[in-house]
Amino acid sequence: MCEHEVGLEPPPPRTPGCEECLRLGTPWVHLRLCLSCGHVGCCDSSPGRHATRHFHHMNHPVAASFEPGERWAWCYVDQAMVDVPPEATPYLR
Ligand SMILES: [Zn+2]
Ligand SMILES: [Zn+2]
Ligand SMILES: [Zn+2]
Repeated sequence: MCEHEVGLEPPPPRTPGCEECLRLGTPWVHLRLCLSCGHVGCCDSSPGRHATRHFHHMNHPVAASFEPGERWAWCYVDQAMVDVPPEATPYLR
């Protein structure tokens, strides 16, 4: 865990896939779930990089992997892998 996860109350995912890609009709590679607002965005290997862009727009610090079976999160502020808060695990795939 990192300090940016303290006090987070992760909401359920807002969309089943990358929110922006679904709207634009563009493909993604992997998905990330924002633990501040439930935004689902695509990873940096995807053309849109919408998860990272979401961090830059919203300053929401931590996103969890939204890939089946994966249980890890990334803190954009610390640029480090962190644990998924227990409150968020029911929303992961
Ligand atoms: Zn952090
Ligand atoms: Zn995307
Ligand atoms: Zn967010």
